[in-house]
Amino acid sequence: MRFLHYLLFSYSSIHEYQEALDGGSISCRDAVSYYLGRIHRLGNLNAFVHIYDKESLQTADRLDAERMAGNKYGRLHGVVIGIKDVICYKDHPTTAGSHILESFQSLYHATVVERLIREGAIIIGHLNCDEFAMGSSNENSIYGRVRNALDPDKVPGGSSGGSAVAVQASLCMVSLGSDTGGSVRQPADFCGVIGLKPTYGRISRYGLIAYASSFDQIGIFGRSISDIALILEIIAGFDPRDATSSRKPVPSYAESLRPNAQRLTQDLPSSVISHPSSFKIAVLKEALDHPSLDPEIRLKLRDFIEDLRLKGYQVEEISFDLLDYIVPAYYILTTAEASSNLSRFDGVRYGHRTADPDAGFPEFYQETRSEGFGKEVKRRILLGTFVLSAGYYEAYFNKAQKVRKILTDRTKLIFNEFDIILSPTAPTTAFKSGEKSSDPVAMYLADLYTVYANLVGIPGISLPLFTHTNGMPFGIQAMTNQFRELSLLQFSNELIQQYKSYEIPTL
Ligand code: GLN
Repeated sequence: MRFLHYLLFSYSSIHEYQEALDGGSISCRDAVSYYLGRIHRLGNLNAFVHIYDKESLQTADRLDAERMAGNKYGRLHGVVIGIKDVICYKDHPTTAGSHILESFQSLYHATVVERLIREGAIIIGHLNCDEFAMGSSNENSIYGRVRNALDPDKVPGGSSGGSAVAVQASLCMVSLGSDTGGSVRQPADFCGVIGLKPTYGRISRYGLIAYASSFDQIGIFGRSISDIALILEIIAGFDPRDATSSRKPVPSYAESLRPNAQRLTQDLPSSVISHPSSFKIAVLKEALDHPSLDPEIRLKLRDFIEDLRLKGYQVEEISFDLLDYIVPAYYILTTAEASSNLSRFDGVRYGHRTADPDAGFPEFYQETRSEGFGKEVKRRILLGTFVLSAGYYEAYFNKAQKVRKILTDRTKLIFNEFDIILSPTAPTTAFKSGEKSSDPVAMYLADLYTVYANLVGIPGISLPLFTHTNGMPFGIQAMTNQFRELSLLQFSNELIQQYKSYEIPTL
């Protein structure tokens, strides 16, 4: 009988899974065994870099025993989660996909991990990513590239490629990634899952290995908005250990999204699905017209926008002439911050240290860092050090700061009039592995739709609504003003219920 449950393990939300646990038709051990089985069977995807087999089964048994004894249990009881290899998990390796941290074990939990565990979640493993979260294809990792489960020759996107594939291929229920310039939303788009990057400061960054501190934010991958809402509700909120985390109260996202709650708050009939919402939507004209956007995606998004109007939504195309400044400003500011953040990896306190016994000073640092960092990370440290150098600071760093300020002011004006900004998530569907790896600028330019939200600190979500004729999924990106995650999730729910034609095939 148990074996049968294991074979038939399937759920459409955390809520449904927990109801099955309550009803006794399934156990946490069944869930963990199911995911472990898949992780090993689909090992060629290279999504996980560390799998915590024994430990997650032990946790599952403890949770099962507690539940069976009738104890009150946490809101994530039995939920199986994978975390990106830049999120610290006490006494476990946390290596940022880098040789320089290969032997590193974290001495403490990231705040998000602490909060997940406190609510009964099971951390099944660490997920592959681009080294120090720098990349858009998950090809820059010491563990090798991650494969898109829909087409192993294609990239899963990056830098949180492992986190996206883990949800895409049902290797865990939900996963955490980090998003400095799109690393949750773009891989979600390439893999056909949902990816949320919250407002800067909504989630504590304590225990997240820093790439660019004024941009970094932990994000969530899932298959349903309700799962994402629940995880967000648990990991969001003030943390005294991160001075940039917000003191704003955290709404009950999951509860507010239930259909009954919507009826109460918005006084809509139960046919809320066919009812246009009152959200005012702005579409960035230059984003849709951009020459790098795949023509089929452009066409599909134009049809989609037209259809929104027909359904009664208020949608306006607005001019956004700053689009071409976004990628340069992002790469100047993030590399500057990275060059400073990564200076701590010096081989003295922890991590890789050169084996050269003759290395004196400063050769010791040079050799340690030359051996420890990969090509892309070195490129960014050099670029960042250059834009911060005395002779070029004014010309590059300061100018990029000004662009960031202008963008922030323009964004405020947009949100005075609109509730939502819609744009593509990425200019193309998942590309072939190797296609862009020799041309870093081409790779950077493809980030044009996602880096905006990080430059101005607003939340963004990628929703996998459509399928391209090349067989790959693609979606749209929705953004709201800061701390409007609830509106963003409500709007996302409406779109998914009305438009989602893409379903992840069983793998
Ligand atoms: N692709 C972007 C970069 O390489 C974004 C990375 C991220 O969000 N961590 O910087």
